[in-house]
Amino acid sequence: MTSDSFTSLSISDEQKSNLESLGYSKMTAIQAESLPHVLEGKDLIAKAKTGSGKTAAFGIGLLEQINPRFFGAQALVLCPTRELADQVGKELRRLVRCVPNIKLVLLCGGKPFGLQKGSLEHGAHIIVGTPGRIQDHINRGTLELQGLKTLVLDEADRMLDMGFIDIINEIIAATPKQRQTLLFSATYPDAINKMCRSILKDPVTVTVESEHSSAIIDQTFYPIKNNDRDEILLALFEHHKPASALVFCKTKIKCDEVASFLRSKNYEALAIHGDLEQRERDQVLVQFANNSCSVLVATDVAARGLDIKSLPAVINYELPHDPEIYVHRIGRTGRAGEKGIALSLFSEREMSRVNAIEDYQQQKCPIEKPEWLKKDPNYQQQSSMVTLQLDAGKKNKLRPGDLLGALTGDAGLKGSQIGKIDIFDTFSYVAIEHSAYRKALDYFSNGKVKGRGVRARKIS
Ligand code: ADP
Ligand code: MG
Repeated sequence: MTSDSFTSLSISDEQKSNLESLGYSKMTAIQAESLPHVLEGKDLIAKAKTGSGKTAAFGIGLLEQINPRFFGAQALVLCPTRELADQVGKELRRLVRCVPNIKLVLLCGGKPFGLQKGSLEHGAHIIVGTPGRIQDHINRGTLELQGLKTLVLDEADRMLDMGFIDIINEIIAATPKQRQTLLFSATYPDAINKMCRSILKDPVTVTVESEHSSAIIDQTFYPIKNNDRDEILLALFEHHKPASALVFCKTKIKCDEVASFLRSKNYEALAIHGDLEQRERDQVLVQFANNSCSVLVATDVAARGLDIKSLPAVINYELPHDPEIYVHRIGRTGRAGEKGIALSLFSEREMSRVNAIEDYQQQKCPIEKPEWLKKDPNYQQQSSMVTLQLDAGKKNKLRPGDLLGALTGDAGLKGSQIGKIDIFDTFSYVAIEHSAYRKALDYFSNGKVKGRGVRARKIS
């Protein structure tokens, strides 16, 4: 039997109290299964879904290996997207804070190369990033991996889906043979299996079953004809009336089409996919997270790692090929004991996918006729908040408290009318209730924040 207390692990006392201060009272299942092997120095293949605590499962392990007095890269974590790398970086920084003088550097595309080069020159112990940019640094001689002890491939299945295999192999070729390799993946297709055989040595495999069960996710499948998809999507909203929803499509183009279609019907829908600029992505995510956009239309890749608490509904506009991806998608709803709904449209040609999902889940997929959906022509899918974008941010030393103070003070808004505040380098976003945003805009057209005029505009 494995213990689920961090105290059972051979890690430093400082880390134990750090974990306690983070509120990590016990290990998650994937941590309890992986950490003992990771700390022994074994190679590892771990299969677990999003939100299971994978970062600490490798983070705690790789930290124990690091020698702060050697100023070279000792751990490298490869992630499929910038958002995921950001998240991993954040979580690792919380784990690192109990060891003095350890430096972590994020290396992702979309950020100035020169700055990253500068950070590397100062010596970095842990590197987190996306394959393309890391390969760039290796090729240009700004990143040296010969002192590497731990290599982590996070969300390996996504990285393969995104076509990173060759780049990853090149990166691995720049690392020492004597290293520990840890591979994390939500699904385990053949391609992963093949890759594992070539890059891991005598690995331990751990699998943690998905925690959600049909008891909290109410799944329904609707047979449709291909050209009915849009109409039935509307009927799903009118019948189920979810407060917000994540809609999955297979391609970027489809995401844009479906989001535009929904907007033409007065839904506050936005699309997110890999073609967006970083700033556009941030803006979409901010709006979805602060409740000013209530429908997000996404590809699997873009949805990976979205830091969204719990969603009332997940809709599969199209079904994925792989039943594991289906289970992964619907795992976004019904979290933490809340009930969620998962609604899937499928054409006759997609029937085999429904069967595969049945086999995978070992339960029947409840099928309902779309004709049974109660349409409601008066239904207005509206989000509760509006997002204002302000032209001041961290660089202007703006903090959430300053905005809150100005809005509840001189502007005369109630605290309850103000939602999430997100501060970026040179601009910020604040969510305000529909009924009050004009008052806030009026205020910003004359009033000041921290003694400075701030321009604001509504973006949702
Ligand atoms: P994954 O990579 O599997 O999607 P993360 O590593 O991002 O998951 O962790 C998900 C969340 O769970 C994070 O907010 C993290 O801080 C939290 N978490 C991780 N381990 C624990 C733990 N043992 N106890 C409580 N919370 C944890
Ligand atoms: Mg993760």
